[in-house]
Amino acid sequence: MRSPFNRPSVQTTPFKKVGGWKCGYHTGVDRVCSTDKTIVAIANGTVQRVNDCGSSYGNHIVYRTSDGIVVLCAHLAEKPTVKAGETIQAGQKLGVMGNTGNSTGPHLHIELQKAAQWRYAENLLDPNHYIDWYLFSESEEEFMERTWKNGATKEQVYQTVADCKEKRRSIGYLSPGEKATCTAVTDGCYLLLYRTATTQKCGFVSYHGGIVL
Ligand SMILES: [Zn+2]
Repeated sequence: MRSPFNRPSVQTTPFKKVGGWKCGYHTGVDRVCSTDKTIVAIANGTVQRVNDCGSSYGNHIVYRTSDGIVVLCAHLAEKPTVKAGETIQAGQKLGVMGNTGNSTGPHLHIELQKAAQWRYAENLLDPNHYIDWYLFSESEEEFMERTWKNGATKEQVYQTVADCKEKRRSIGYLSPGEKATCTAVTDGCYLLLYRTATTQKCGFVSYHGGIVL
């Protein structure tokens, strides 16, 4: 599913972090986008609840995607204007990142559950397994070329998306910290243009942390 932001964001609190929450751990992920605070729907779905899951969430919305995943977005700046029962489309604006409820700075808390209805700390899914934080639109034309900086480990490069997903038949690799140009995102894999000592090559990687603002 696409990102709830329209621009690159960073994670500030991970899923299942142990701490002072009622259930003893963090039920979703926290993320911050400093360039565009708009919060949008990550998939087509139906709104289920608005501002009635508890005051610690501040202004919040719960919707269920057409694939049966319940999504809670919390700490929005204002009360969402969509109502329970309304259908929403992927990319539709739901609100603006805010600092309402139990929050110490503007961020989005997003949590996912495989369920019919939202329930506190039940049926939780790891959002990082379902959301591509660098997918802003299903339309490839809208993807802007971005600088890519590899992470701390060597990253294998593959010729096709299928090879990349199955991690087979690598055609090369990016060294730790190496830079490249990212030209597209397809099915959770990133198409990169990079240089070797002798030539320029391109291929897909699955590492999610490389896009530089
Ligand atoms: Zn949170």
